[in-house]
Amino acid sequence: MYIEIKEIGPEGLAISRSIGAFRLPLSGRDSIQVDTVHLSGELNKDADGISFAGRIETAAKLSCSRCLEEYSLSLELPFDLFYTTEPESAAAADNRIDDDLITRVHYDGVRIDLQALLSEQVYLGLPLKPLCRPDCLGLCPRCGTNLNEGDCACAEKRTEDPRLRVLKNLL
Ligand SMILES: [Zn+2]
Ligand SMILES: [Zn+2]
Repeated sequence: MYIEIKEIGPEGLAISRSIGAFRLPLSGRDSIQVDTVHLSGELNKDADGISFAGRIETAAKLSCSRCLEEYSLSLELPFDLFYTTEPESAAAADNRIDDDLITRVHYDGVRIDLQALLSEQVYLGLPLKPLCRPDCLGLCPRCGTNLNEGDCACAEKRTEDPRLRVLKNLL
C-alpha cells in the first residue's frame, strides 16, 4: 500500500485508511500478529521532502514476559516523519531540521510505502518487557503454575513457619 507523491496537492493531503491485519517479523524466527490498523495523518510537500505526521491505532498479540500467556495490547502510536530523497549520510550532516522528534526517512521520491511505515512504527511502539497486566504475578519458579490463576502448592510451603518445618523434620 502506497501513497503516490503526485497525490499530494499544494494544500497537502489528509488520509484516513484501514489496513488489514499482518504479521510483523521480529528478530530470529519470531513474529507477532498485528490487528487491522487505522492510519490517519496529513502529508505536506516542501522543497526538501515530504512531512507526514499522524497516528496509528491497532492492537498486537504479545506474550507476557512474566506468565508467558498471550494477550492483546492496544497501541496508539503518534508519528512525525520527514521523507527525504537525500542519502542518509547527507541527512545526518544536515542540521536544517533540529527537532529531534522528527524522524527522517529515506525514500525514492515517488511514493511512500505505508506498510514499511506501519511495520517500523509498530515495532518501535512495542514494549521491551510486555506484561499482560502491570501486576502480573508470573509463574511459580518451582512448579511453573500461573500464579494469576491461583496459588500453587509451593505457596503453602513458602508461608510455613520455618521453625515448624525444623520440628517436622525431627519427627
Ligand atoms: Zn502475565
Ligand atoms: Zn509452585
